[in-house]
Amino acid sequence: MPIYEYICEDCNTKYEKFIKNRLAEVVLVCPICGSQRAKKIFSLFGSSSTTSGSSSQSGAGESCGSSA
Ligand SMILES: [Zn+2]
Repeated sequence: MPIYEYICEDCNTKYEKFIKNRLAEVVLVCPICGSQRAKKIFSLFGSSSTTSGSSSQSGAGESCGSSA
């Protein structure tokens, strides 16, 4: 059961989308502002999104800063 995470590009709201059929067209609608612009988040690898700018992320924060 694939559940993908998306983040709204308008209000930066993170929400999950349940994808039943990959071949079907997925309409992404933000539950907050109703925008259909969203970016896919790969939560498998943790938070490694390179988004420039100040955005409040929901989480505890970085525990250890490991530079690759
Ligand atoms: Zn939104």
